[in-house]
Amino acid sequence: MTISLNNPDLFVQHVHIDGEWTGARSGATMDVDDPATGAVIGMIPDCSEADTQAAIDAAEAAWPAWRAKTAGERAALLERWYTLMMDNVADLGRIMTAEQGKPKAEAEGEIRYAASFVKWFAEEGRRIDGSMIPAPEANRRILVMKEPVGVSAAITPWNFPSAMITRKCAPALAAGCPVVVKPSELTPFSALALVKLAEQAGFPKGVINIVTGQAAPIGSALTGSETVRKLSFTGSTRVGALLMRQSADTIKRLSLELGGNAPLIVFDDADLDLAVAATMASKFRNAGQTCVCANRILVQDGVYDAFAQKLAKAVSALKVAPGDRDGSTIGPLINRAAVDKVHAHVEDALSHGASIFAKAPEGATGERFATPVILTGATRDMRLAREETFGPVAPLFRFHDEAEGIALANDTSFGLASYFYTENLHRAFRVGERLEAGMVVLNTGGMAMEMAPFGGIKQSGLGREGAHAGIEEYLETKAFHIGGL
Ligand code: ADP
Repeated sequence: MTISLNNPDLFVQHVHIDGEWTGARSGATMDVDDPATGAVIGMIPDCSEADTQAAIDAAEAAWPAWRAKTAGERAALLERWYTLMMDNVADLGRIMTAEQGKPKAEAEGEIRYAASFVKWFAEEGRRIDGSMIPAPEANRRILVMKEPVGVSAAITPWNFPSAMITRKCAPALAAGCPVVVKPSELTPFSALALVKLAEQAGFPKGVINIVTGQAAPIGSALTGSETVRKLSFTGSTRVGALLMRQSADTIKRLSLELGGNAPLIVFDDADLDLAVAATMASKFRNAGQTCVCANRILVQDGVYDAFAQKLAKAVSALKVAPGDRDGSTIGPLINRAAVDKVHAHVEDALSHGASIFAKAPEGATGERFATPVILTGATRDMRLAREETFGPVAPLFRFHDEAEGIALANDTSFGLASYFYTENLHRAFRVGERLEAGMVVLNTGGMAMEMAPFGGIKQSGLGREGAHAGIEEYLETKAFHIGGL
């Protein structure tokens, strides 16, 4: 299968190391397929530890000149990269739909979202500042300076193949750090296309390197390297913990965006139409495959039945179809294992007393498609209460009062996003302050935007992306004492 593009140069099947487009030294490759059809869409180099080391060496060599540039010079390159991304939204969206499956409108939305980080951090790079602290002696000055941490590695997942690249690389680059990127082997072409555009924007060789292939050897080369001073990872808590262990010997700086198990609480005094619209946005974006998707929908007694009815009506308007079909709102899941997990969670819930309340209309029936479903009677002893379902299943849990709702919401080892719906101001503050999450969302559906800090607490991770906090992750603090004045 070939992807039809206005600019075919954006479909790249090579990695980028030290300014060269190349294969793996061994010549090994891996196939990448289209989740909607299973058809192979292209091949990527299967890079080894040695290939990864070459990328690290290139980044190290590029560092002195890159950090020496002015913030304005780095911003100019980032702004050119942003413009090229925006000029190529349609092609970048097609590549994403082909390898990831998400509907065209969502794919193009992600490209604009991805580009927003490049623009934002071009601007934030100009606002890195320090301070001067009153010293204990009259002839001493204490300056606090911010410096780039150094060669930075980014390991990114398949659910946001472009945005997770720019959310990490743009702040690193703006701060003066060269990068080595390892995209998911399931969705490498979106990342490679972005690096192609970065090359066109004029980034010097070695500043942006990308390696593809099987995760384990690349991961150990990146984590084991003393040169790599920083690792930013988005993916599962299991792999995040593994990378954290692997990074321990070199005491690497880490940012980890890991799993979630987001509660969405609908109180008796909620605006139900608003809550339903927000639930649809939170639950079914990317067919339920985001770390901030509502995983547990907690509904208070008094509105449980009315909410379920309204949600069922909204779900009946979903269209399950390949992402390149007009009107598709739910594309395929990423692979067979993802579909199996969804089915296992539903079966487990049914065997523990849940019922299927409603389903979306039957659509595409390929082996990677899952039909959105609403379950009623969900309880905390079901798998879907503990684990991320990562699919289009909306389980409704019933609760009686505010304290029980909050306790249920916090009853998880994760703490990424929590949503709640109420029209009561006092309750809004009480609940917002007690929810254990890095992002609390009241009376709306989303929170992912370049100006707001994104990240989790508990086992959802370390550090923040976006906002000014996102660039701090790539900066070290140096105390500069000047005496004898
Ligand atoms: P998901 O569950 O979203 O697929 P993963 O944590 O499996 O999340 O994958 C996220 C990223 O982590 C991908 O780029 C994947 O290739 C990478 N990854 C998986 N296993 C390892 C590993 N052992 N070392 C380094 N990276 C890994």
